[in-house]
Amino acid sequence: MKNYYKPGDWNALCDRCGFKFKASELIEDWQGLRVCREDFETRHPMDFLKVYPDKVYVPWTRPDYTPGVSVSSSSTGGTALATSALASRRLGL
Ligand SMILES: [Zn+2]
Repeated sequence: MKNYYKPGDWNALCDRCGFKFKASELIEDWQGLRVCREDFETRHPMDFLKVYPDKVYVPWTRPDYTPGVSVSSSSTGGTALATSALASRRLGL
């Protein structure tokens, strides 16, 4: 662009391409940059999309426990090992 006088205007550089324009020809974009008409970009519509967070949890749960080993004695004097999770919960293990 050639330098010329225009009352009330001045030379300015485009923030994207760096070419020289008159300040009145530059447009401020959504990022706050002063750009020429060829470099002007509107903000992408996906920036305005509202996304709801996913439900990543289950509707209900139980307290966590580890299956234990319970020992019970029988009438014959022997012992039996039970790995039942239900038995360990009854014993409070
Ligand atoms: Zn430009």
